[in-house]
Amino acid sequence: RPRVVLAGVSKSYPGADGPTQVLAPTDLSIDGGEFVCVVGPSGCGKSTLLNILAGFLAPTEGTVRVGGHAVTGPDPDRGVVFQQPNLYPWLTVRQNVEFGPTVRGVPRSRRRAEAERMLALVGLDHLGDRRPYELSGGQQQRAQIARVLVNDPQIILMDEPFGALDALTREKLQGELRALWQERGKTILFVTHGIDEALLLGTRVLVMGTRPGRIVYDEPTSFKADLP
Ligand code: ADP
Ligand code: ADP
Repeated sequence: RPRVVLAGVSKSYPGADGPTQVLAPTDLSIDGGEFVCVVGPSGCGKSTLLNILAGFLAPTEGTVRVGGHAVTGPDPDRGVVFQQPNLYPWLTVRQNVEFGPTVRGVPRSRRRAEAERMLALVGLDHLGDRRPYELSGGQQQRAQIARVLVNDPQIILMDEPFGALDALTREKLQGELRALWQERGKTILFVTHGIDEALLLGTRVLVMGTRPGRIVYDEPTSFKADLP
């Protein structure tokens, strides 16, 4: 399982008074199978860090490597789940999950079978024919997770994925994600506002500080012992 390595990664945005650094030069190494939670105040650069790892944003300085290969853009091997699920409203839930394999040219019967397997995994096998707007928020986020998992990514990047859900649904999905991680041994980077959520889910917690954004704390949690 590939290791993620950031070396001297920083990010600045241009501004009226010159560039503002929102992420100070950061070194970070994440082993395959870790469940890393990132917490910190609003604006400390959590999303910036995640978007750099996803390949959506280029760092101003430094390099990002996954399994020794430089990250130069997005790749289905790094699945991304945001707070708002970005499902296509004109497709059914099943077609949404099949979308990635369709683009990759996976034959119809195989991608159909894979989509069904992923829908069952997230508990949506009975809702494949619905459109996304016919699902509850929790179900939409499950569909989004199935859509990412169907590509069999090594790394899953999640930016406050349960932030818009009610407390009960959030608790259900936290349990499901934890079980999924344990069964499949994926590497997960999970951004959250909640230190409770970070300690509950992660094998390792990063706390970021602000002005400029930087990692100020990086420690394993008590879950470290059950690393798959
Ligand atoms: P967090 O996810 O921790 O809330 P972000 O990574 O979203 O933090 O943002 C970090 C800082 O970068 C914030 O101060 C934000 O205003 C700034 N920022 C984010 N995107 C841009 C942009 N496109 N242009 C200028 N500043 C930005
Ligand atoms: P979750 O805990 O996954 O968010 P809910 O408890 O909100 O799910 O949903 C309860 C039930 O309501 C589910 O069986 C779901 O199928 C149904 N449901 C939710 N939203 C809709 C909708 N827009 N149309 C039809 N059924 C819905």
